[in-house]
This record gives sequence, structure tokens and C-alpha cells, in this order.
Amino acid sequence: MTCAKCEKPLSFNELGLNRKLNANAARLCMRCMAEKLGVSELRLREKIGEYLAAGCMYFVKED
Ligand SMILES: [Zn+2]
Repeated sequence: MTCAKCEKPLSFNELGLNRKLNANAARLCMRCMAEKLGVSELRLREKIGEYLAAGCMYFVKED
């Protein structure tokens, strides 16, 4: 699976973000999604942390 906009390969967590935040649209990488949603990439990383803390199985801890 690659980003519909820039064709970067999507990570597991990026796919999770698409499921959570971008359900009905094309699959996007974190950078393109941040641009589309009008938020910072940092904010999306924080969201991943929040979903992880909530035990959401769409996300894994990254190094
Ligand atoms: Zn992209």
C-alpha cells in the first residue's frame, strides 16, 4: 500500500491513521494527511500515541 498522493510506502501506523481519521478517502502518508487535514505531522504522531495508550490495535509502538 502506498500513499495516493506521493506514492511513499505506508507504515502500519499510517494505515491506522487512515482508518481512524481518513476513513472514506484515499490512503495517505502522514505528511500528506497532515496537509489535507490542516494539522502538523507532530499532532498526528501525538494522535498515534493517544490511540496506543487507549489500546487501539491499529497502531504499534515505533522506535
Ligand atoms: Zn504522501
